[in-house]
Amino acid sequence: MTELTDKKLTTKINVSQLSLDILQQNPDRLRNWEEERRHPLHYMKNRWQWENYPKWKYVAPFPLHVDLEADSRCNLKCPMCYRRVFDNMKVNAKEDPNLKFAAMDYDLYKKAVDECVENDLYSLRLSWRGESTLHPRLIDFVAYAKDAGVKEVSFITHGGNLTEEYIKGLIDARLDYISLSIDATAEAYNKLRAPLKFNETVERVANIHRLREEYGEGYPKIKVQGIYNYFEGDILEYYNTFLPITDNISFNVEHDYSVEVNHANKKEDNIFCPYPWQRLTVTATGLVPLCIADWDADVPIGDIKTNTIKEIWHGPQMTRARNLHLENRRMEIKPCAACIRLEDASIEDVAAPLQEASKIYIQQELTQLRKKGKKEKRLPDMKRIDPRIP
Ligand code: SF4
Repeated sequence: MTELTDKKLTTKINVSQLSLDILQQNPDRLRNWEEERRHPLHYMKNRWQWENYPKWKYVAPFPLHVDLEADSRCNLKCPMCYRRVFDNMKVNAKEDPNLKFAAMDYDLYKKAVDECVENDLYSLRLSWRGESTLHPRLIDFVAYAKDAGVKEVSFITHGGNLTEEYIKGLIDARLDYISLSIDATAEAYNKLRAPLKFNETVERVANIHRLREEYGEGYPKIKVQGIYNYFEGDILEYYNTFLPITDNISFNVEHDYSVEVNHANKKEDNIFCPYPWQRLTVTATGLVPLCIADWDADVPIGDIKTNTIKEIWHGPQMTRARNLHLENRRMEIKPCAACIRLEDASIEDVAAPLQEASKIYIQQELTQLRKKGKKEKRLPDMKRIDPRIP
């Protein structure tokens, strides 16, 4: 490996998620979100590894987290989704069946989970680009991973398929954590997430909360998250609607998935990204992209049908990617050069207090929006929001 330059290496990390609970100065709720995990000590250990291993440049024997895409198909067409950019591009245009949107094969899933359990994986997320609940066996997926011994199993969903029976199935399967994508209230939501309806979605979230209290001993934990650039309506109403029926309410920034724009806005290269030391992503067909931010698997680094996850994690392409980041040469890696995530990065030290990070983040994001000439959406006003309002 070549010497590092004297440029300051800065840890920039995906902090695109902004918790309204932080802005609300709601420390109890934040603490509970962290501490009330099913396996709190394992969770804390995992968070400690997550923050420190990249700083130490230590490659763990196995990824600290795996995103295993149960299903890459989706039945909505949301304007903020990367699929709007990629639908007519590589993923569906290629004949390669590995690049098609699909549901994961159950035997392939079991093979992957078995390896994860053998290697003591802490967390498994059954989502990436698609709507996980479209997989006809998602509940079986959760049950298999939990029975095998994965400590934390979660997925992200628009929530439209969560009937009472389905929720009970997830509770029985011992799902640990569910994250629902909800970006607005009332009519604005109905338009963004058509054909879903806001009132029905709120009812489904309330059902998860009620049923988990009745049958699930408080699990799954419930997070609601949205893209704040799309938020319309009263943020206070939004927050207070979900406060009693969730454990965490967060917002992400809108990513610009236009590859051309991202290349045109080349970012500084004197940074290294912690992701190659933290996580690995597997598509529904078994392909492993270089990173979760490599949305169309432009740089496949393996396939779990023929390789083990461990082989890929320690393989030449991951090693090369790590080295290039450490050598200030991440722009030589295609997905990193077009990365949508570092655009959001806003803190120089991952240990910086999150609230401070959120403030900096908002300022930077507003600056970016102004530069791009985009309309500024109203951001949450810290003084206006009062979590005590029922
Ligand atoms: S694409 Fe590269 S820079 Fe972006 S999150 Fe992944 S590893 Fe980090």
